[in-house]
Amino acid sequence: MNFTSDFNIVKEALETFTIEIDFPGNKVIRQTPLDRLIQELDLSSWIKKGGLEGQGLKDFLSAFLSYQTRLHHSGYLGHQCAAPHYAAALGSFVNNFTNNVPSIYEMGPASVALEVFLVNWMLEKVGWKPTPLTPQNCTAEEAYGGGVLVNGGSIANLTALIMARTQVAPEVWQEGNPDGLAILLPSESHYSLTKAAGILGIGKEAIHFVDVDGRGAVIPDSLPSIFRRVQEMGHLPIALVANACNTPVGIYDPLDEIADFCQGQKLWFHVDGAHGASALLSKTHRHKLKGVERADSLVWDAHKLLQVPSLCAALLVRNHKLLDQAMLVGDNASYLFHDKEQPGVDTLHRTIETTKPGLGERLFFVLGAIGEDGMADFIDRQYQLALDTYYYLQNLPDFECPVQPESNILCFQHTGTAIDSLFLRKKLLEAGEFYLTTTLFKGTRYLRLVFMSPNTELRHIEHLVSSIREIAAKI
Ligand SMILES: *Cc1c(COP(=O)(O)O)cnc(C)c1O
Repeated sequence: MNFTSDFNIVKEALETFTIEIDFPGNKVIRQTPLDRLIQELDLSSWIKKGGLEGQGLKDFLSAFLSYQTRLHHSGYLGHQCAAPHYAAALGSFVNNFTNNVPSIYEMGPASVALEVFLVNWMLEKVGWKPTPLTPQNCTAEEAYGGGVLVNGGSIANLTALIMARTQVAPEVWQEGNPDGLAILLPSESHYSLTKAAGILGIGKEAIHFVDVDGRGAVIPDSLPSIFRRVQEMGHLPIALVANACNTPVGIYDPLDEIADFCQGQKLWFHVDGAHGASALLSKTHRHKLKGVERADSLVWDAHKLLQVPSLCAALLVRNHKLLDQAMLVGDNASYLFHDKEQPGVDTLHRTIETTKPGLGERLFFVLGAIGEDGMADFIDRQYQLALDTYYYLQNLPDFECPVQPESNILCFQHTGTAIDSLFLRKKLLEAGEFYLTTTLFKGTRYLRLVFMSPNTELRHIEHLVSSIREIAAKI
């Protein structure tokens, strides 16, 4: 085995795959039946005989990558996963080699420094007070923000709800759930939240859906009556969740008005900004999150709009104490500098995970490479492209969008014929020039574009339109 030569083989293969991606004939997606793929890649023989190096490695990688979906492709309009910036991937790569685990300061002081610094950077973008780096000098009553990087928005949402539950019912850690715990949730929310309710033992029946308008945004005026109904049922809501932005159509809820309501009721206000909190970096779009600073907790995924590979999600809170008390398992007191007499902090008590990778490396390396203004430009570009696509489609006689986009997510429908969106998607994926999803919104199935790739331009959408028309003409 030779590290340098194998490293160069991997480097060259990845260069072709992620950078020189759009040459003619390169498909964004190519699906083969699973059993055939395992055969074709010869997996069992490699494991038996070993020797995946040199020319063998080169050939294997070439076959392997040829079957992979290409997120950097101009035709990638699928799920909300980043087409990672190479700098972020390099950060991840460094941590994969060193394996410093930032849950415990001793295990990787520099990894912890990145995480704490980035969490503070994000807290300041929200408008929350960053965590002081010398908490010895703080009084016990002082409230400042806190946060932690975790493996994904779903885990971050779950942790936020655990935190909210601990505030309402601290006895759960000894006695289990009291009767009647409930959650208030907009109907367009991400399914990780319903899943979290299930995991918490709260159950679907105790999820009360909040009314949304024609665009899928929460109607704040409807909140008092829903809340009254919930109370009359004898339910005890642990939190109200809002979306910034929601998953199906990418619309932001009116956070400021929702905050008014939550403040009045002393109800935990959680904002799911997994996808759209990155707009906080943009001068043009940050107003869409007005009021977020009044929330109790916020989830912000870096592996969506910050060009970071999966996963790297931030769970942020206005008051750090509530995160430190979230999981009252065992002795939770050992996180402060002076308690352990160490020069840094542990974050183990804040996470569901015990061991976790250096997630800060992923985000820091790309921010360090392009700067925060460079990142803001990327977000502006992707949001603008969704808006340009919306105007383009709305001007065509045979296409229609249900909602004007507020992020880089856009739903649309071909109205020229009666073909359904699922069929169109199937045909488009078979051709392999475009990868897109569909979503149900207000009872209708739409095609859904998420502009993640930095290589997509309006001309590619024009080509998508002609491809759809060609499919429709053949029916
Ligand atoms: C993506 C997303 C999630 C889930 O995050 P993962 O990182 O995929 O676990 C939750 N909520 C919203 C609004 C999302 O867009």
